[in-house]
Amino acid sequence: MADVELVLRSTRVVTPEGTRPAAVAVTAGKITAVLPYDAPVAAGRVEDLGDDVLLPGLVDTHVHVNDPGRTEWEGFWTATRAAAAGGITTLVDMPLNSLPPTTTVEHLRIKQQVAADKAHIDVGFWGGALPDNVKDLRPLHEAGVFGFKAFLSPSGVDEFPHLDQDQLARSLAEIASFDGLLIVHAEDPRHLEAAPQQGGPKYADFLASRPRDAEDTAIAQLIAQAKRLDARVHVLHLSSSDALPLIAAAKADGVRVTVETCPHYLTLTAEEVPDGASEFKCCPPIRESANQDLLWQALADGTIDCVVTDHSPSTADLKTDDFATAWGGISGLQLSLSAVWTEARRRGHTLEDVVRWMSSRTAELVGLSDRKGAIEAGRDADFTVLAPDETFTVDPAALQHRNRVTAYAGRTLYGVVRSTWLRGERVVADGAFTEPRGALLARPQ
Ligand SMILES: [Zn+2]
Repeated sequence: MADVELVLRSTRVVTPEGTRPAAVAVTAGKITAVLPYDAPVAAGRVEDLGDDVLLPGLVDTHVHVNDPGRTEWEGFWTATRAAAAGGITTLVDMPLNSLPPTTTVEHLRIKQQVAADKAHIDVGFWGGALPDNVKDLRPLHEAGVFGFKAFLSPSGVDEFPHLDQDQLARSLAEIASFDGLLIVHAEDPRHLEAAPQQGGPKYADFLASRPRDAEDTAIAQLIAQAKRLDARVHVLHLSSSDALPLIAAAKADGVRVTVETCPHYLTLTAEEVPDGASEFKCCPPIRESANQDLLWQALADGTIDCVVTDHSPSTADLKTDDFATAWGGISGLQLSLSAVWTEARRRGHTLEDVVRWMSSRTAELVGLSDRKGAIEAGRDADFTVLAPDETFTVDPAALQHRNRVTAYAGRTLYGVVRSTWLRGERVVADGAFTEPRGALLARPQ
């Protein structure tokens, strides 16, 4: 073992076999062995982490970086720094809110070029499925996008129109023809139109304008299409617990459907959102605490597969106090691990559970399980060093997000990220960053 470059020792290393004292050997950016804690290893460098926990770096498959085009909302430099500060080592960028959206190979190349020099962590890309780009889907797949996002109701930006049911069927048939993955914002537009659209600062009115049955109906339709075409689909940002039985039934029936939810649905409740506080606005909305309990139950039993941020920031001026017109999106990159861990811990879950939801399963979703999502030999040496029992109070000024609007301001969270490691190099420690060294990722062929 003389050529080991680096060893990270901790009394608590989260591995697929459980949490245990171990020494993790790294060479050329890869984990080469997970050894007993006190194994004698001749290494170029040994880092003793003591009782801080060594986790695999998180893989966040739902991030709106908005770069190029809306870089005043976010950007690759700021988003990837915030992610690194929060223990995330891989993100997959959503195809919309940037200009251009990632809906052709040419647009993908533009985005890759913009990201290349700014990425502090590894970055991959989703493509977009629009009513008029079916012919672009296969070329995008071959160019390395991890799958395709579609909306079933208006997306919030004009350049990314939603699909009706016929268009969904057409796009999904094309994607199924190369066994690609369709990821879907599932709210049914007819149910949204039929709901009372009151507007104004009252959160209860906003919640009533995005009812659960809009989600439930859209998910039922998506499952039916996936079943008919034997296609792979993924439900984005599930909020409605009423949809859980039909998702569980579809999975039991062999339908190829996976589901994510987000830190805000798991840690914030409708009851506590102050009127006018549109930093809490997202679509679908944060719902009641009884709904949240069922989401946690579904994570525990596997009906929900994973947890991702849906980091979707805007400038502060778009977060007006009218819930109808304020930008919908919650910034969560830097805080997602601590927010989820705080609530998971309170509910009796372990860090191993959090790693499964936020790293292993998300890596699996995008086909990166050979490289990411676990501390085991052969995978990339991407790590998060966490002090899980230490707390901090969220100070917006300490956030690396370009806009420091946050729904978590003033909250006390468990889990301080001490450092984040990307392919064997520490990229952030105690708030100090290295120069960007993230790589652009493509779907494994
Ligand atoms: Zn999103």
